[in-house]
Amino acid sequence: MFTRHHGVWPPHLPKHLDYPRVPLWEFLETTVRRFPDKPAIIYYGRSIPYRELGEAVHRVAAGLRRLGVQPGDRVALYLQNCPQFVIAFYGIVRAGGVVVPVNPMLRAEELAYILRDSEAKVLFAGDELSPAVESLGARTEVRAVVRVVYADYLPQAPSLPVPEVVAAPRRADSGFVAWDELLDAPAAPPEVPTDPRRLAVLPYTSGSTGTPKGCMHTHATVITNVVGAAYWNGIAPSTVHLTVLPLFHVTGLQHSMNVPLFVGATSVMLTRWDRDAALQAIARYACTHWMNISTMVIDFLHNPRLRREDVSSLLFVGGGGAALPEAVGERLFALTGLRYVEGYGLTETISQTHFNPPHRPKLQCLGIPAPDVDCKVVDVATGRELGPGEEGELLVSGPQVMEGYWNKPDETEAAFVVIDGRRYLRTGDIVRYDEEGYFFLVDRAKRMINAAGFKVWPAEVESYLYKHPAVQEACVVGVPDPRKGEEVKAYVVLRPEYRGRVTPEAIVDWCRQRMAAYKYPRQVEFVNSLPKSGSGKVLWRVLQERERQRAGT
Ligand code: AMP
Repeated sequence: MFTRHHGVWPPHLPKHLDYPRVPLWEFLETTVRRFPDKPAIIYYGRSIPYRELGEAVHRVAAGLRRLGVQPGDRVALYLQNCPQFVIAFYGIVRAGGVVVPVNPMLRAEELAYILRDSEAKVLFAGDELSPAVESLGARTEVRAVVRVVYADYLPQAPSLPVPEVVAAPRRADSGFVAWDELLDAPAAPPEVPTDPRRLAVLPYTSGSTGTPKGCMHTHATVITNVVGAAYWNGIAPSTVHLTVLPLFHVTGLQHSMNVPLFVGATSVMLTRWDRDAALQAIARYACTHWMNISTMVIDFLHNPRLRREDVSSLLFVGGGGAALPEAVGERLFALTGLRYVEGYGLTETISQTHFNPPHRPKLQCLGIPAPDVDCKVVDVATGRELGPGEEGELLVSGPQVMEGYWNKPDETEAAFVVIDGRRYLRTGDIVRYDEEGYFFLVDRAKRMINAAGFKVWPAEVESYLYKHPAVQEACVVGVPDPRKGEEVKAYVVLRPEYRGRVTPEAIVDWCRQRMAAYKYPRQVEFVNSLPKSGSGKVLWRVLQERERQRAGT
C-alpha cells in the first residue's frame, strides 16, 4: 500500500474530507442564495449574476419537463463553451436528468453513435452544429433539439476579441426549439428525486481509444471531485477563473465550471481558446486561477504580446490530462514566478485522482493521490504490487471512480480489478512513484516502442525534444522497421522564428548527443500542427497509424 509522506501533504487540508450527500444542484442553489448579485460568468464582457443563472436553471428544468424529460432521462449537450452550457447542464440535473456532454468537434456519425448509445431524448446543439444535427434524421431517439446561439449572451460592445463561431450570423430557423422558448417556462423547478447515488453525468471517453464508452457518474462521484479540487487548489469566492478548457471534457467540466460555481467564484469564459483573448482576459479581469492543458500554455508563452500585458494577478496555473513539458514549466515560472500545478485523472474518475501539492509541486509529475484515493502500482504481466521507482500500471480506487460503463458490462468488468475486497480501476497508464510519494507517468500501457528489444517510452523522448529551442510541439511514434521491428520517429512543430532555419537532420543530431543510441529519433518530420482531440490532447495514434499505412503494415 502506498503511504503518504510528511511535508508533501498540503498543510491546510485534512486527509479525509466530508462530502455532502446532496444532489449536485444544491451547490449552485446555495451559491445563488449566498451571492445573488455576484457575477457567476463574464462572457466577453457580459456579466451574468448568480441570481440570473439560478433562475434560468429553474426555467430550463421546467422547460425540459414540458419537452417530456423525466428523471433518469439522458439529455446531450453538443456545444462549445458558452453560458447556455452551464445553464443547460444544471437545468438537466435539476429536472432529474443525466447530462451527456459531447465534444463539439465530433462529426454527425460520431454524434449519432453517442446519442444512440446513451438513448438521449433531447439534444442542445450550437447553432453552427445544426448541419450535423439535421443530418441525423431518424437515426436516434432524440425527440427535441434545443438550438443554442452563443451570440445571444454577447454584450453590445464585447470587451475581448470574439471568435468567429460566436460572431457568425444566426442561421435560418431550423425547426429546433429556440432557447427563449425553452426558458419561457415557470421559474419553479419540478419535483425530482434527490438521492445523490443517482446518475448525473455520462461523459464519453476520448474517441482516440476504441469505441466510445459512457462513464456512469453519479451526483456523489461528481461532488467528491468538486469538493476535493476546491479545497486543494484554494478556490474561494474571491477567485476569478479563466475558463478556457472545453467544458464537455471532465477537466473543464469540473475545474472550470463546477468548482467555481460551488464556491461562488467568477468565471471569465471564452468559447474558443485564443491566446490573445486569454491574455487580455487575465489582464482585464485580474484572473487569479487558470486551469488549462499543456498545449494552451505552450501557445500562451509563444505570444509575442506577452510582455505587454499584466498577468501578475495570477495565483495559480495548473492543469491535467497531459504532461506539461519541463522546459515549458520553467518558461512559465520565469514569466510568472508560478510553478505549474499538474493533476492527473481520467473520464472514468470525473477528473483528478492525483494532484500536485500546490506548496510543493514537481514538474511533469502527476502529483500525489487526492483525498480518499487509494492506489497501487502493479506489474502489468503478473499483477504484483510494486514499490518506489518501479514502473507498472496504476490502479485507483476512491469515491470519484465511476460506477461502470453505460450498457457495457463486459468492458466494465475488464476495467476493474478487485484486490482485498476493494474495487480498483485499471488506468492503463504506466507510472512510477518516487520516495516522497509523487507519481510520474511513464506512458500509456500500449504506447510503447519496441526497437530491437529496447523499450522506448515516447513521453520521455518528447520531454527531451521540448528542451530544443526550436521545438514548439513534438509527438513521438514508432515506425515499422524490417530490421528492428520499430524505429523512433518524431513529428515536430517548429517555433515560427526557426522555420526554414533548422533542418530535420540538425534535430536528429542534437538528439543523438543527448539520448541513448536506441532512444533518439532516427527520423524527424516537420509539420505545421499536431492532430489534437477536442480537449487539446495530442492524438499520437493518428500519427502512429499514418506511419503504419505508409509502411504498408
Ligand atoms: P481522459 O479520459 O480523456 O481524461 O484521459 C485520461 C488519460 O489522460 C489518462 O489515462 C492519462 O493517460 C492521461 N493523463 C491525464 N492526466 C495526465 C497528466 N497530468 N500527465 C500525463 N497524462 C495525463
